[in-house]
Order: sequence, then structure tokens, then C-alpha cells
Amino acid sequence: MKTYSNQKDLYWNPVVETLPPRKMRELQLKKFKRILEWAYERSKFHRKLYQEAGLEPGDIKSYEDVAKVPKVEKAMMRDIQRKDPFPYGDALCVPLEEVTEFRQTSGTTGTPVYQPDTWQDWEWWAEAWAYLLYAQGYRKTDRVFLPFGYNIFVAFWAGHYAAEKIGCEVIPGGVLDTEARILKIQELKANAMMATPTYVLGMADTAKKKLGIDPARDLTIRKITCAGEPGASIPSTKQRMEEIWGAKVYDHVGATEIGAWGFECTAQPGGLHINEALFLTQLEDIETGEIIEEPGRKGKIVITALDRIAQPCIRFDSKDVAEWSKEPCPCGRTFRIIQGGVVGRADDITKIKGVLIAPSAIEEVVHSIKGLSNEFEVIVTKKGDLDNITLKIEILPEDEKNQEAVLTQLKDQLRLKTNLGYNIEIHPYNSLPRYEVKAKRFKDLRKHG
Ligand SMILES: [Zn+2]
Repeated sequence: MKTYSNQKDLYWNPVVETLPPRKMRELQLKKFKRILEWAYERSKFHRKLYQEAGLEPGDIKSYEDVAKVPKVEKAMMRDIQRKDPFPYGDALCVPLEEVTEFRQTSGTTGTPVYQPDTWQDWEWWAEAWAYLLYAQGYRKTDRVFLPFGYNIFVAFWAGHYAAEKIGCEVIPGGVLDTEARILKIQELKANAMMATPTYVLGMADTAKKKLGIDPARDLTIRKITCAGEPGASIPSTKQRMEEIWGAKVYDHVGATEIGAWGFECTAQPGGLHINEALFLTQLEDIETGEIIEEPGRKGKIVITALDRIAQPCIRFDSKDVAEWSKEPCPCGRTFRIIQGGVVGRADDITKIKGVLIAPSAIEEVVHSIKGLSNEFEVIVTKKGDLDNITLKIEILPEDEKNQEAVLTQLKDQLRLKTNLGYNIEIHPYNSLPRYEVKAKRFKDLRKHG
């Protein structure tokens, strides 16, 4: 356990991070009313949405009233795009000349959505990331390497600025290829980095096979901040990353339209804190829309960025599924925790053979089996009335002699953890698709016949 000179060194903002829940709800309500009024007065999109629901900002008097405000979905943002003021459309709340940042969503679920930010918003992005990096132990003494392509996707951009804001030394690994990035980490003895779980595992593979470098032994990375995929909250995937790098791996969740809204702290309570100083988060029953306050019941995250001004994010339907944790965190933060992180997307959590399943549950099993590579693919098809699940896996060359034992273990664990049977296909090592940044391992072909 790290010791700090005083308790205050634990938190980026010692006041708000330890606020009693009642005070926190008061602060959130006050900020919620402010951003709602801001959007109502300045954006045609928001005013129309609220007027059609017969709602005015003055109607929100209590924390419970927040749930009365209509939600915004990604598809709605897509519809206003490329209209006036070009290219963002009428959800924009500032004059176009105030916009300083363009980013767009990755487009994995359809046409990318543009995201404008002002300079104030950009500072807010960095502030949100500063909370999370500080909670993961980033300090002035750290030398942080960012192995990502600085481009139109927001990804780790704000992580870069936040690390600088904390006082770390930041190395932008931009257009370098994977081998060059690894060599730079070695040359400069960088001790922290930020990447997607897929890339963290891929980098380690490249280091071993192409450069003969063992990341845990030959490199000095001791903490890794992940984002973009649920991997760092899936225990077996996290363990693979931690072992291969000899580093602590921390999860973080965020989205282009929302901001950096959740993080794991160094106490690693088995879940992610929500940054309640900057975001108001509600869990909603997927079927009934009822607000869930009790632990242990899964719901969809509906989220408001309380301080983002150019294109406000008010009651955004994130489609991320999570549940509240029972336990407070030993780190002393009063920010609420979602147990096990984001467990899936409302769209991906699907019924197979009548059983509700999140793809992350299959990943948890595959990555917990020692003889399997990091790569796998799940394909769901339909024959007549029957759902069929094919799971493609690779056995590591050194474990081929134990193939039978590995397969038995895999089948047992799958049945135990997911209650489903699978057709397991063994593919030659290195033949399944490798992904650079975000993996697409789950394919449901039933919808397309
Ligand atoms: Zn904590």
C-alpha cells in the first residue's frame, strides 16, 4: 500500500470526492437545473424536445423530478447533423465561432456522430480525466506513454491533457507503429500508459514475438489505464494484462457524446466509481423505465454531463448496462460504484436459446483458460427455430498436447458461467482476426436471416 504525506493527497478534489450523498444530490440537482435551462434557452433541438413533452426547466424541483426530462438517443443526434449551423445542427448552444474542437464517434453502431466542444469544454474533458488518473495513482513523478493514433476520435486525447495537468511527463506515441512504440517505452523507461485492452494484449504479443522483449521483465510500465472496451473490468482479461505487463491495470469508461464518466481507483473495489461531481447518472429498468436505486439489479445508464456547454448531454441514453454496488469503497470516495463496471450494451445483451447473455460473460470464461490465446469469435445463427452458438478459439502452440484437457475445462466453465452449450471450433494459432484497437468478436447473424 502506497503511503501519502497526508490524506488530501489521495484525491484530485478532496471536497467533492468525499461529499456525503445527500449533499452530492443537492449539488447535482443545482447543476442539472442550470444545464437544462442553458439548453432550453439556446438550442432549438432541446426546446422542441421539452415543449413536446410539456416540460419547462422550472418544473424540475427535486432530484426525483430529473427522471421526468425526456431522454436523448444517439439516433436523434444523427438526424440533426449536417444541418444548420453546419455541420452540427441545432443542438448547438454556443455561436459556431466558439467551437474549438471537432471529434466524432467511432461509428461502430452506425453513421458517426459529430461532437463539437468549446475550449471551456475541452478543459472540462481534461478535468474529468484528471480525477480518474489521480485516483489511479498518476502523479508528477510519472512518465506516461500514449500509444494511440491522435486523430478524429476522442479516445485518449483528454487523457493526454489530464496527465499534463497533473504534472506527469507525457510522451505522445502518435504515428509510431507498435514495435517503435515498445522500443520508445524501453528507451525512455516510461512507467504508465493508456490503451484499449485489445491493444494492451496485442502490444505484449508483438513485444515477445517480434522483439524478444518480455514486457513484465524488460519494460518499466507499472500502471495501465484502459478504455474503449469492457476488458479491464473482466477479471480474467485484467489478470492476463497484469501478468504479461507486470503492471496494475485500471478500467475507465467514457464516450464521445458524454465525457469520461467512470473510473476504477487504486483500491480496486471490483467496480467503477461514477464521477458524480461532473455527471448525474441514473440506472433505469430496461423494460419498464423505472429508476433503480437499490444494489444488485441491472439497468441501463442514463447520464447527464453537468458542465458541458457546446452541445449539452442531458439524460443521454447510453445503452450501457450496469448495477449499483452494495459496498462503499475503501478509498473513501463517496462517488457511487457500479459493480463489475459496464457489463454490456443494452443492444448486445441478447437472448440466446431463451437465456439472457452479455458477450462479456463469454470473454470472462475464454480468458480464464490458460491454454487459449487472447483471440476468439462468437457467432450466433438460427436454424429453423433453434439458436446455434459457434465459439471459435485458438489453442496456444505450447498447450496443443493438452488440447483435450483445455477443451473439457472450457466447456465446463461455459456451461457453468453462461448456462449455454456451444459448438467449439479450434482454429490454427494466429488465424483468427487480430484487432488493432477495438475488437469485434461477437456476431449475431440471426437478425439478418
Ligand atoms: Zn475507490
